[in-house]
Amino acid sequence: MRSIPAPMQSAAAAQSPATLPEPASARTPSAADAELQRLVRRMLELLGEDPDRPGLAATPRRVANALRWLTRGYGRDALDAVAGAIFEERHDSMVLVRGIELYSLCEHHMLPFFGQAHVAYIPDGRIVGLSKIARVVDVFARRLQVQERLTDQVADALMRVLRPRGVAVVVEARHLCMMMRGVEKQNSKTITSAVRGVFATEPAVREEFLRHALHGA
Ligand SMILES: [Zn+2]
Repeated sequence: MRSIPAPMQSAAAAQSPATLPEPASARTPSAADAELQRLVRRMLELLGEDPDRPGLAATPRRVANALRWLTRGYGRDALDAVAGAIFEERHDSMVLVRGIELYSLCEHHMLPFFGQAHVAYIPDGRIVGLSKIARVVDVFARRLQVQERLTDQVADALMRVLRPRGVAVVVEARHLCMMMRGVEKQNSKTITSAVRGVFATEPAVREEFLRHALHGA
């Protein structure tokens, strides 16, 4: 087994963190973050709060930082996520990673949805480090999303970077915008799937995946 160089290295991966000076953003907020904090403060006022009361004093900064963290998938792509972890290997059976924890934000309400992704692929001469599949899920989950698009993006990204015989993705998630507001359906779970390559063309392969993914058989 030998490592195949990733087609493109991200700028972040190419530079050793040890040689980089501490980014200014770690010390003082960027202009964008300062603006974000002002908007959060204004939002608190519009919601009827007193943003100067002690409990809320640091809230604009915390909310701005949290939003940055929760949307950190912007500016990352699947190639960065798998960089250096694609290996040439003769293995032609299904590889399935079940129960990848997933946290995202719905783009309609900016409220969390969370659950699990199950991802399978059938290699065609290349395999990827298993932890990297979870990273690919994260690249797309950490943005404002709809579950359907997230599912498709993970499948398409793995097709692009691995060039396998096929990819299948199932996402099971609960949406706080459904659970906390509106219809208040506490126990409903949304399941989406995307199949590519042999998973799309061969029903028996797809069924094997679904049996393992959803029932753990
Ligand atoms: Zn929503």
